[in-house]
Amino acid sequence: MAPSPKIRVDPRTAPPLFHLLAKPSGSTCNLDCTYCFFLSKDALYPHASARMSDETLESYVAQLLESHRSPEVTVAWQGGEPTLMGLEFFARSVELVEQHRRPGQRVQYTIQTNGVLLDDAWAAFLAEHEFLVGLSVDGPEPIHDTYRVNRGGRGTHRQVMKGLAALRRHDVDYNILCTVNAANQAHGSEVYRYFRDELGATWMQFIPIVERATAETLPIANQGWSERPGGERLLYTQTGSLVTERSVGGEAYGRFLIDVYEEWIRGDVGTVFVQLFDVTLQALFGEYSLCIHAPTCGNALALERNGDLYSCDHFVEPDHLLGNITQTHMLDLVASDRQRAFGRAKATTLTGQCRSCDVLPLCNGGCPKDRFVTSRDGEPGHNYLCEGLYAFFTHTRPTMSAMAQLIRQGRFADEVMAQVAAADAARGRNDPCPCGAGAKFKHCHGAPGRRRGRGG
Ligand code: SF4
Ligand code: SF4
Repeated sequence: MAPSPKIRVDPRTAPPLFHLLAKPSGSTCNLDCTYCFFLSKDALYPHASARMSDETLESYVAQLLESHRSPEVTVAWQGGEPTLMGLEFFARSVELVEQHRRPGQRVQYTIQTNGVLLDDAWAAFLAEHEFLVGLSVDGPEPIHDTYRVNRGGRGTHRQVMKGLAALRRHDVDYNILCTVNAANQAHGSEVYRYFRDELGATWMQFIPIVERATAETLPIANQGWSERPGGERLLYTQTGSLVTERSVGGEAYGRFLIDVYEEWIRGDVGTVFVQLFDVTLQALFGEYSLCIHAPTCGNALALERNGDLYSCDHFVEPDHLLGNITQTHMLDLVASDRQRAFGRAKATTLTGQCRSCDVLPLCNGGCPKDRFVTSRDGEPGHNYLCEGLYAFFTHTRPTMSAMAQLIRQGRFADEVMAQVAAADAARGRNDPCPCGAGAKFKHCHGAPGRRRGRGG
């Protein structure tokens, strides 16, 4: 290993822990999902190798372990598609962790994958090292295959299901990562039930697709972000106040989340974990585990294959390059004034509408990448998803508060389901469904037979 840069900052002034997504194959991917603007990031590294070298891998692992003052360290792999690196790369990373970790340091491995390359050999390895696998699925086959396609433009659902079957044969922990986009935004509970009942998922997260564009770039952006023969290619940056036709609508995002929530609150509290629901409940205790709805951010960075460290995975663009870990220690970059200012800006750039919003302690204005519309007072820099976020946080507040109250009393949050069942029993079957979609309760979240046998 080449001599590693030394830590210069006083570690006591640096964050005791942080999250770093490492992209060992950069944005290289074996699929060509239409909405994936990460594919365009290859334009930043036209001459670089598509693989993280052994030397950079060792610098990354050694510095990550050295930087953390917490006993828990997460080694997180992301892409592009990280499995393109091959199993040996990850076996080597585990070896390096064993070599560099301090006594008592515990390491959790995570990997985000499209699942296409997963087979028994992969699944056995992931199980042995207790990886938490994030699997990208957007819903049942027709929905998933709308945008999650291969380079030939064909849907990938069947291949992903083979990968999932391998994970389940080997008892690997997995989490479904579902994007919310124009194709599935009107199908929240259908998508949720599919994950729960058909895929046996007990952990899931829903990520809004918001692809920004300007009037000039929109026609090209609407075609997707991959390289096409003879086609123009754009480097995606967080600019423009328009969105592609694949993007979720602001209001529709809220409807999707509420649809899922109304399904979950009637039977799955304590058995199915939806990231945003957990995060909202935690916020009622003043705890924030997800940067997007935390008051400030800046502790979730992205590492490119050549060692370049960026402020955030959503800001892998020249203006947010902090430095290279083969020249400057990772902790110096994480603790740098520039990165701390990036994190504080999340709070200091809130619009007046956010500052006076009654759900600000839950929402915190959302992610800065989505703040590109004007607020109702005409102020720029407001969150494109605001309408949906506001609807979600206000709609769920009574039952979220009831769960928080139960926990404060030393009881279990799942007791809320009995309260919801009692309210449902008092509700007329022909009354409007409380989800607000407009249908009668008996045809919506009160419909019989919404819960099928679990696929697990
Ligand atoms: S910019 Fe958004 S995704 Fe990135 S760290 Fe901040 S809140 Fe998180
Ligand atoms: S709901 Fe809208 S106004 Fe309220 S904090 Fe969130 S983004 Fe701001």
